[in-house]
Amino acid sequence: MAERSALKDRYRNVMERVGRAAERSGRRAEDVHVIAVTKTATPEQMRQLIELGQADFGENRVQLLSQRVGMTREFLDRHRTMTSSRCAEVPQEVRWHMIGHLQRNKVKAVLPLVRLIHSVDSLRLAEEIQNQAAKLDLKTDVLIQVNAVGEKSKFGVALPASAHLAEQMMGMNHLRVRGLMTMAPFHDDPDQVRPAFERTADTFNDMVKRGVCGPAFNILSMGMTNDFEVAIEAGANVVRIGRAIFGEMEHAASA
Ligand SMILES: *Cc1c(COP(=O)(O)O)cnc(C)c1O
Repeated sequence: MAERSALKDRYRNVMERVGRAAERSGRRAEDVHVIAVTKTATPEQMRQLIELGQADFGENRVQLLSQRVGMTREFLDRHRTMTSSRCAEVPQEVRWHMIGHLQRNKVKAVLPLVRLIHSVDSLRLAEEIQNQAAKLDLKTDVLIQVNAVGEKSKFGVALPASAHLAEQMMGMNHLRVRGLMTMAPFHDDPDQVRPAFERTADTFNDMVKRGVCGPAFNILSMGMTNDFEVAIEAGANVVRIGRAIFGEMEHAASA
């Protein structure tokens, strides 16, 4: 019970901070979407968060993703067959996001599980998603992961190359490029990563203006526990938050 109310407090606190950061950047709280990143979450915490109304979840490893998608689907199915007003906030559906590095041989397994892949960082990966999505007759929404900080980040295309990759992907009819994602290196002082977020936002806004990927190109995914307020101030409209919601590693589910 103590953990239940601690989770609720952390979640409320995160949502408040997201709302205030949105307002500081001239937007409304509901203009910024929170993805709850479940890396350190227990199944019980995930159920509680769904009961609090959270609908978007993210994972960075394929095996955990598939377990957790199964778990949340089962939970929602069970919930639908119950007549309980206690959980009035439970969403109609839970949307899963693949946020971690994706290997090409895992694409086939991931496609049926997720609403959005945040981590497309090469033409070859995009081509594999196009091929597998064609076989499943899906249209898959993806973000291009960019590296806005240089050598410190292992994954992501260089910012100046992102528009070119986006243009190459426009010819792939089973893909829809929805925006950009970036991940900043950890800093004790989140202000240190502000320039990287601002550079990413500049590139994103420039691509929006030039209409590189059409009107569906409208998602800027950046900001995690340590830096989500700075990311929102820089223009993020999707943040991916794990530890600030679920707590630190002592609750980690056994992998
Ligand atoms: C783990 C992870 C997050 C969330 O990190 P926290 O620091 O727990 O908020 C966000 N995005 C990606 C890509 C991650 O791997």
